[in-house]
Amino acid sequence: MTQDLSAYWMPFTANRQFKKAPRLLTRSEGMYYWDDRGRQILDGVAGLWCVNAGHARPKIVQAIQAQAAELDYAPPFQMAHPKAFELADRIAKLAPAGLDHVFFTNSGSESVETALKIALAYHRVRGEGSRTRLIGRERGYHGVNFGGISVGGIVGNRKMFGTLLGGVDHIRHTHDPARNAFSVGQPAHGAELADDLERLVALHDASTIAAVIVEPVAGSTGVLLPPQGYLQRLREICDRHGILLIFDEVITGFGRTGQPFASQTFGVTPDLVTLAKGVTNGTVPMGAVLVKDTIHDTFMNGPEHLIEFAHGYTYSAHPLACAAGLATLDTYAEEGLLTRAGELGGYFAEGLHSLKGEPHVIDIRNVGFVGGIELAARPGEPGKRAFEAFLDCYEQGVLIRTTGDVIALSPPLIVERAQIDRIVESIRTALRRLA
Ligand code: PMP
Repeated sequence: MTQDLSAYWMPFTANRQFKKAPRLLTRSEGMYYWDDRGRQILDGVAGLWCVNAGHARPKIVQAIQAQAAELDYAPPFQMAHPKAFELADRIAKLAPAGLDHVFFTNSGSESVETALKIALAYHRVRGEGSRTRLIGRERGYHGVNFGGISVGGIVGNRKMFGTLLGGVDHIRHTHDPARNAFSVGQPAHGAELADDLERLVALHDASTIAAVIVEPVAGSTGVLLPPQGYLQRLREICDRHGILLIFDEVITGFGRTGQPFASQTFGVTPDLVTLAKGVTNGTVPMGAVLVKDTIHDTFMNGPEHLIEFAHGYTYSAHPLACAAGLATLDTYAEEGLLTRAGELGGYFAEGLHSLKGEPHVIDIRNVGFVGGIELAARPGEPGKRAFEAFLDCYEQGVLIRTTGDVIALSPPLIVERAQIDRIVESIRTALRRLA
């Protein structure tokens, strides 16, 4: 390695350690990466929960290339290009019924900020501007911008960045290993944790609360499944009090749980959905917010200003992202990928749960093609044991991901049985070698 690695300050990375032994990816195709040592690496995590159709799919590659040559950029304010409308329409057709409008962003984090701003503005436009309070959940991850880290429930953000936004509260997370360890699919216990929202209503009064945001499945904080009935109960409480329900589906969108959206898998329709990642198969940055008709129409029926909603990005509905998105949705449809995690999820679950009883494993959680394997933390070294499993698997030619002491899996939706076996066996091997 002769390249100077000092200029690039890497995100969410132990830079000093990494630069002593860098892991550099140089090529990708289908289920595989190749690294700068020429080694093939099986992708157990779809890049970062985003390459749902597998890597370097020709149709998507060609669409991006052709778009760059034809229309490289179009301003999105008071101007547009045809593919923006086409993609919005296609996404709305996949979305839960009633969520028929799409506001484009460039990332999951931007989708979260956008959804929170839509919620606040919606209440104002309809004359209930006292509804300003936002409610998130402990262990929620909603990206890295100020709204997202405020409604998010990660202590590290408070330690590093201070008190964050005011007027934000949190309900408890739903992780309850004492009652639910090794549940297959949704755990049986914990629906009543949704009643935390009622307590916040009692404390603050519903007239001050704008919205509650949760991930249907919390991914980045360790693959936490919603207990049976929990999301339904949240929905009921929101309905009772006029509070908007936002699902952050940045990870769960586009087939991860066996349906296009987790809202459909779990049978609960929120008012707003944030998405990103899988919308372009990870190729060109893009995110979006799905908006319920009644919310959208409130803006469209509101007072006629020059613009209805003072928000947007230079790269909203970027032509390259729209072209990539259309080709991605074609690929998902042609290959039946958005329901494949439902069809093969049982096999994935069996493989995952066969790791019960291996050294250090204290819990295993799954839905569709999402898996979490929680290891006992080594005393005084949180996260280290799982990270060593990551390094071991990488040496075996399998890419997994860790968050704290949880190994998180989210293979591309094209994964085959033998590849699931290989991912599981590489983890088993790593666990048996771990101190
Ligand atoms: N929300 C959730 C639920 C996520 O998992 C993520 C990213 N993993 C984000 C938001 C942020 O997305 P991005 O990194 O694209 O900003």
